[in-house]
Amino acid sequence: QPDLPPSLRCALFICTSGRRKSVAPQENNKGNKRLSCLVKPPDVQTKRGKFGEASRPNQKFYEMIQEFRETLEITPVSASDLIEPHRICVCVRKRPLNKQEVNKKEIDVVTIPGKGALLVHEPKHKVDLTKYLDNQVFHFDYSFDETATNELVYKFTAKPLVQSIFEGGMATCFAYGQTGSGKTHTMGGDFTGRQQNSAKGIYALAAQDVFTYLNHRRYAHLELSAYVSFFEIYNGKVYDLLNKKAKLRVLEDDRQQVQVVGLEEIYVSTAEDVIKMIEMGSACRTSGQTSANANSSRSHAILQIVLRCNDRASTLHGKFSLVDLAGNERGTDVSSNDRSTLVETAEINRSLLALKECIRSLGMNSDHIPFRMSTLTKVLRDSFIGEKSRTCMIAMVSPGMASCEYTMNTLRYADRVKELNGHSKGSR
Ligand code: ADP
Ligand code: MG
Repeated sequence: QPDLPPSLRCALFICTSGRRKSVAPQENNKGNKRLSCLVKPPDVQTKRGKFGEASRPNQKFYEMIQEFRETLEITPVSASDLIEPHRICVCVRKRPLNKQEVNKKEIDVVTIPGKGALLVHEPKHKVDLTKYLDNQVFHFDYSFDETATNELVYKFTAKPLVQSIFEGGMATCFAYGQTGSGKTHTMGGDFTGRQQNSAKGIYALAAQDVFTYLNHRRYAHLELSAYVSFFEIYNGKVYDLLNKKAKLRVLEDDRQQVQVVGLEEIYVSTAEDVIKMIEMGSACRTSGQTSANANSSRSHAILQIVLRCNDRASTLHGKFSLVDLAGNERGTDVSSNDRSTLVETAEINRSLLALKECIRSLGMNSDHIPFRMSTLTKVLRDSFIGEKSRTCMIAMVSPGMASCEYTMNTLRYADRVKELNGHSKGSR
């Protein structure tokens, strides 16, 4: 066990050892474990740094967080850690502070002590203006800190799901979080300047492994071929990113099979083929600045790698859907007076809610999947049913104090998905 202060050790224990219901939070909050560490009001109003430089805004909070961190033993997830199989896996990834944030001396309020734990040090004031940190602890299957690479995140999240589509299953991997938290970086690849390095994103890393398995002895006899489709859902409408954003209809037949009519499905034989499709689709996604859906943070992007048998009917064998979700702040922002923005907001909110409900239904092996609640869950319907369906959610968080509220929203959402996962295991 890392060497933690007793109060925190206790909180981590609570998080790892079971249901949140057993915790009686001292404050009446929405169920998170909260630890408050109080400090006396500062004697000196503005402190100067060691080298006499002007102090940052929120210097006091910065120092309190640093002090807190010094009491923690930090052991980040490493490539040699054991990969545990999960039917539903919920992880969180924290990005580093970016250049602007560093320039503004923004403070980092998120700490990842190890494997699954994550702490948010929420800066607060008491009524007498005493500053204190409201330290909130979360626990996920894995928590990745700012030093984690896409490869490392991939290894523990999407990679374990690739095999399941060869076994005839449906797999999904979601990137969830606030705009700017790293969803596209994680899924599509990191940027060097303006150029996105698609080969280093989860899309491409998954594709690479798909071809490794395709050529593997164990699966060669299945005679499968791989296809790719890439589309966007904006305001409940589907647009084909591999066909000039053609608007497509979603139909459900009498056997409840959902079809995206006319969706391009392109045959691919190498990981490079897939990377070409990713680049083509991503360029298409952000093109057309005049159209209402130019801003990618307002739409969900879905890349599907489909395995089909080489038979006459091209029978579906398995499918991996990798989803770069719309920014979750879009679902809560109701400040706009603009009607189209409000409609947009409501739609995003509905789809993210539906997604959570569908994953929970999967976790409980429920017969009732509320997939009709949104277009997103409709097109992913297959993924929420059956023994072989597996899913992974990567919740992205920005580290800055300015994003604290959004970070908490993201973590609460991810926590809800996780909570029922644990519940279903216990009840089966
Ligand atoms: P989102 O898709 O969630 O809106 P992006 O993926 O576009 O966010 O990330 C916003 C910015 O932060 C980009 O410039 C991206 O390169 C950078 N970024 C995100 N995650 C990381 C990371 N883990 N390491 C370094 N830079 C990152
Ligand atoms: Mg993005």
